Amino acid sequence: SSTSKRNYAITLLPGDGIGPEVTTVAKNVLDLVGSLEGIEFNFREMLLGGAALDVTGVPLPDETLSVAKQSDAILLGAIGGYKWDKNEKHLKPETGLLQLREGLKVFANLRPAIVFPQLMDASTLKREIVEGVDLMVVRELTGGIYFGKPRGFGTDENGEETGYNTEIYAAYEIDRIVRFAFEIARKRHGKLCSVDKANVLEASMLWRRRVIAIAQEYPDIELSHMYVDNASMQLVRYPKQFDTIVTNNIFGDILSDEAAMITGSIGMLPSASVGSSGPGLFEPIHGSAPDIAGQDKANPFATVLSAAMLLKYGLGEDKAAERIEKAVLDTLNRGFRTADIYSAGTKLVGCKQMGEEIMKSVEPQV
Ligand code: ATP
Ligand code: MG
Repeated sequence: SSTSKRNYAITLLPGDGIGPEVTTVAKNVLDLVGSLEGIEFNFREMLLGGAALDVTGVPLPDETLSVAKQSDAILLGAIGGYKWDKNEKHLKPETGLLQLREGLKVFANLRPAIVFPQLMDASTLKREIVEGVDLMVVRELTGGIYFGKPRGFGTDENGEETGYNTEIYAAYEIDRIVRFAFEIARKRHGKLCSVDKANVLEASMLWRRRVIAIAQEYPDIELSHMYVDNASMQLVRYPKQFDTIVTNNIFGDILSDEAAMITGSIGMLPSASVGSSGPGLFEPIHGSAPDIAGQDKANPFATVLSAAMLLKYGLGEDKAAERIEKAVLDTLNRGFRTADIYSAGTKLVGCKQMGEEIMKSVEPQV
């Protein structure tokens, strides 16, 4: 539909383990979709994680952060591996990822959990519970107890050793993530569930008050509130009741992993981390899977779907994003599976061939 040529600078951070295998597939898919949609991607590959440690001695080199900040979006594979597990904290691959998120000021983390009808048996829950699950967890990513001060170790009045952290949110931090979530809910199915612990925690009491205030701006959205303990129960009891969930950093960390496990296919799930300005960061939820790295066994769908989120939430290229989503469904419908999602009667392929099949599924849509 659009005739003007669009150009985007994409920072590629393949990282470690299966990261390079899955990002290669996603890059190829983006190039192909771009050629069909009149979009040109200029990829620049940079070092992050263990790969960066080995070459530069730090997990996030300055050059990686500055290139990433100047680009339009960032596509990340995965980081970490046995090799660096015993490193000191500041020399861990994972520290590089935290520094990157901090440097990019991405306060909103989006984690869709979709049960693909073709892969329903991957879930450990009963078919009638998981069938049709399609929800989105919107997690606050830069505040709350993971960053609150004071924090540390100390001693109490009896000389007993203590450890302490602070759950703290400023109203503006709540407002921006909550508005963001209302906008997402509006683009989805118009339902938003805010999860807190407002019966116990002051930070949650403020959270709930802000959500209720902001809801005035979104009369079209059906809003509900749930305590986190109930929400975690409801997620496994009847996940279909949820459309969009918004919650703080720590609750979101836990609930998004729980939601992922409902689908049972870690190799299928993408994520996006975005801020109010500047580029977003798009990555699969899985790790570097060192146990299968270099064996051409990795499932590239999570990273390919992360590329679709990059198009949709990072660049506003919804049509190109839909092309990728359709191609993923078509590839599944044609029976292709990597080992992690394989079942009898389907066609087992490696990461590379899966990439080729996804490309074939993109093409006939021309
Ligand atoms: P993190 O690095 O986030 O802590 P982790 O080390 O807990 O992650 P992963 O690296 O995600 O875990 O791997 C967990 C298991 O899932 C491993 O057995 C791995 O092989 C498998 N796995 C993860 N991602 C994929 C994928 N894309 N394709 C196939 N299997 C995968
Ligand atoms: Mg790991």
